Amino acid sequence: AGTPGPFAVDCFNGRQSTCLWEKGTTSWFLSHFHYDHYIGLKKSFCKGKIYCTKITAKLVHHILGVPLERIGILLLNQPVAVQGVKVTAVEANHCPGACMFLFEPAGERPTLHTGDCRLTPSQVRDKMMPVLSKVRSQARLILDTTYCNRKYAHFPTKEEAAEAIARVISAEVASNPRVLVLVGSYTIGKELVFFKIAQALGRKVYIGANKRRVLKCLDLPAELRALATANDMETNVHAVPLGYVRSQQRMESILKHYKNKYSAVVAVCPTGWSLGSSDNGAARSSSISNNNSFISCKRKGKVVTYSVPYSEHSSYEELRFFVDWLQPVQVTPFVKLQDQEAFA
Ligand SMILES: [Zn+2]
Repeated sequence: AGTPGPFAVDCFNGRQSTCLWEKGTTSWFLSHFHYDHYIGLKKSFCKGKIYCTKITAKLVHHILGVPLERIGILLLNQPVAVQGVKVTAVEANHCPGACMFLFEPAGERPTLHTGDCRLTPSQVRDKMMPVLSKVRSQARLILDTTYCNRKYAHFPTKEEAAEAIARVISAEVASNPRVLVLVGSYTIGKELVFFKIAQALGRKVYIGANKRRVLKCLDLPAELRALATANDMETNVHAVPLGYVRSQQRMESILKHYKNKYSAVVAVCPTGWSLGSSDNGAARSSSISNNNSFISCKRKGKVVTYSVPYSEHSSYEELRFFVDWLQPVQVTPFVKLQDQEAFA
C-alpha cells in the first residue's frame, strides 16, 4: 500500500531493489541514457513497455537496438495515464533527454522520482515549479543526492563553467598554436564544453564515430551540429571519453600519434568532483561570477590538465533550496552503483 503503482524506474538489472516498486511490473521508466541507469537493458527486452523522453527513446532504439514498439514516448509536462496512473515527465536539467517522473496515483500520495538532475534555481523556477507546485507539501521525493555534502556547496551554472573554460583554453591556444586540445565528455552529457571551446576558437571539434552516432539522436540545433567534424586533421579540438583526460599515459600516446602536428596537450576535465578535491571548495567558488577561480590546473610533462566544475548534478545548496521549496513528506536518496567512476 502507498506505492505509486506497479512501476520500476531506472531498474533493468533487477539488482537495485530500492527503485523496484513491484516485482513483475510491465511498465518500465528510464530517466536518461546513462549506463548506470539503463544497465541491464538489452535489445531483447520483452518484459513490457519502456517510458522515456523522445531523445532517450532514440538512443535506446538506435544505440541499444530496442524495438520502437517496446518504447512509449513521454512529452515534457504532458500527463499521460499508464496502467491507470497519471504520469508526467518533467525537465531534469541533467544530460540531453533527461527527465524526472511525477507519479500521481488516484487517492494516494504523489511520488516525484528525479532521476539525475541539476536543480539550478532558474531551471527550477522556469521548468519545474509550474508542474510541481500542485504537489508541494504532499509528495514523496526520490532524490538524486550525488553531491549532497557541504563541501559541494556551490557550483557555477553549466553556461558559466563552459564559458570560463573556453576563455582559458583560448588563451592557451593563443600562446602555443601547436597545441592539441582534448576535451573529455560522457557518452552523452557535457557537450556544451567542447562546443563552447570550438566556438571561442572559431574552429570545429573532431568527434569520433561512437559519439557521432549518439549526437545524431540529440536534436542539437543546426549551429552546433555544424561545428562537428569527422576529420581529426581538420581541427586541434578533439572530443574524447572522460577517461582519456584522466590518464597521463593515454594523453602522451595521443600526442605521440600526432607528433608531426602538435607539441603539447591541453586537456579539459569537466566534472563536479573537481571542487571537492580541496577542502575549501565553498570558499574558492564564492568569486565564481567574477573570474575563473573555480578552474584548477595541473602541469606534467607536455600535458596541461584543466579541471572545471561543469556539473550535471545539483550542488548541496541547490538540493536544500529545492527540498525547502517542495516540502516533501519523505525523502529517499536515489541509490546508484558503488563505483563512483561509473556515476554519470
Ligand atoms: Zn546521469
